[in-house]
Amino acid sequence: MKRANDQLMSLCAALTLDTDVFWEVVEAPQPFEFTLASLPSAEHPSLAHCVKDNWEVRELAPSGFAAATVGKMHADPEVVELVSACYHARAIEATSPSLAAVIYVSVVEAIGARFVPLSKCECCEKCDRYVGYARQFRQALKLALPAGDAKRLGKLYNKRSKTAHEGALHGTEFCLRERTNSFTQDPADYFLYQEVWHVRAAAGRLLRLMVEDRLPTPVSSDHNVE
Ligand SMILES: [Zn+2]
Repeated sequence: MKRANDQLMSLCAALTLDTDVFWEVVEAPQPFEFTLASLPSAEHPSLAHCVKDNWEVRELAPSGFAAATVGKMHADPEVVELVSACYHARAIEATSPSLAAVIYVSVVEAIGARFVPLSKCECCEKCDRYVGYARQFRQALKLALPAGDAKRLGKLYNKRSKTAHEGALHGTEFCLRERTNSFTQDPADYFLYQEVWHVRAAAGRLLRLMVEDRLPTPVSSDHNVE
């Protein structure tokens, strides 16, 4: 059962990464003896928003990329961790955009760690902290976005830290009603459309490069990068 669960979750996470549409598991896998396997009926309430009469089976077949992602997830624990994190962020993005942003940033940061080693904080002799996480994030963004976009989105790290360390929410988490959509005028809208969606796209692009083995060669750990 655990294997069936893992396979189904991996497939949905890979399809979500590939299509940029959230693939949700409607029914969990069950032991074969319980019931005959069947596709959920088109009347299932959770499918109401997505079922089309003219769907063809080939539209549902995994692409080469989704299959490659599932394959990599079997072979590389880091890929499992990062793809699962992105998938979970996508699942909570509508209700928890600030937390989703923390996760997307961490995925970008984890990939940036290949290129930017952390360095010892030099504030005083006693300090044993390591610094450089924000630099890892900004460096990895440059691999996924044009320079201007990477620079703009790099500022998201400050908001991410305010959520992670101070509990700050930047989106519509604290709103009761759906609001009119003003795109960039409202700070919460700006956060969602200009930052969360963009960092999700950047994380997705980096994961694609990772799955396809197209990321640049990592620096060696003793290399000192500024
Ligand atoms: Zn320090």
